[in-house]
Amino acid sequence: MTKKPKVAIYWLGACGGCDEAIVDLNELLLDVASAIEIVLWPLAMDGKYDSIKRLPDGAIALSIIHGNVRNSEHEEMARLLRAKSQIVLGFGSCACFGGATGLANFCGRDSIMQWVYRDSPTVENPKGETPKPVSTVDGNTLTLPEILDHVYALNQVIPVDYYLPGCPPPPDLISHAITAVLEGKLPPRGAALAPQKALCESCPRNETKPPRIDIKEIKRPHEVEVDSHVCFLVEGVICMGPATRGGCGETCLRINTPCRGCFGPVEGVEDAGAKFLSAFASLVRATTDEQVQSIMEKFYDPVGYLYRFTQPSSTLGKRNKVRETV
Ligand code: SF4
Ligand code: SF4
Repeated sequence: MTKKPKVAIYWLGACGGCDEAIVDLNELLLDVASAIEIVLWPLAMDGKYDSIKRLPDGAIALSIIHGNVRNSEHEEMARLLRAKSQIVLGFGSCACFGGATGLANFCGRDSIMQWVYRDSPTVENPKGETPKPVSTVDGNTLTLPEILDHVYALNQVIPVDYYLPGCPPPPDLISHAITAVLEGKLPPRGAALAPQKALCESCPRNETKPPRIDIKEIKRPHEVEVDSHVCFLVEGVICMGPATRGGCGETCLRINTPCRGCFGPVEGVEDAGAKFLSAFASLVRATTDEQVQSIMEKFYDPVGYLYRFTQPSSTLGKRNKVRETV
């Protein structure tokens, strides 16, 4: 009997949404599951790290890893799965770019610990204790993973072979990616298993864009009722579509919500935030410094907007050190 390819599905610093997206493959998941041997998937089955450690290097055909690297256990497991796997797929925006929780890099580890365990108004912690990697309780030694200095995208810690972006990735791209791996029909290593063009190119609202957009005022989504056929930028609502990779199925746009950029930068672009800012600035119509000032004052939380999913892998984020042995 032909051996089935071994597959690991593992979460690092993740919310669980990426695992949900895999479960949402529904019947297709049964077909996939019958074609592979799942050796690790904490969401769905019991699994022991030691059983992975005992496998020869390269024994796992595919490791699907989601979540970013935030603590020492994430780092250890990312390195272990890299050693044991022929192919590592960075799955979801947290793995591909650092994801939404990568915004924590704007604060720093120590200030986060200070707020969460000491200063937050709902905390009662008279001794000011914070979690420690090793503690002794009633003579017993307890260990916890150690929080790292920064949030890292997966490829800042281990080499990654393929990327599947999205928060979470949509079912059609997931099934396409898994099928491509099982059938050996993969593009060159390093590719994103998603369309190369910007979201605007597949957005149904693109047709309503006038030849020239003049933004004289920024509006937040709750301040204006945008017609469901009209481009958000025409209404002055920030939409990251021009700088974001397409392939999401325009899910947010179809429920009248502007793109937040979860698919990361378009092919060949390193920094989605800078790319969007450049495109956006060319649409702003202001002739005086006061007009520019007044428009920009309505751009609330610009770094949160521009780097919502990509801070760790952006130009700003790369000021953080890449972990030494990538
Ligand atoms: S990419 Fe989105 S859905 Fe997946 S783990 Fe990160 S936050 Fe959750
Ligand atoms: S800016 Fe947003 S709404 Fe406008 S075409 Fe692009 S994706 Fe669609």
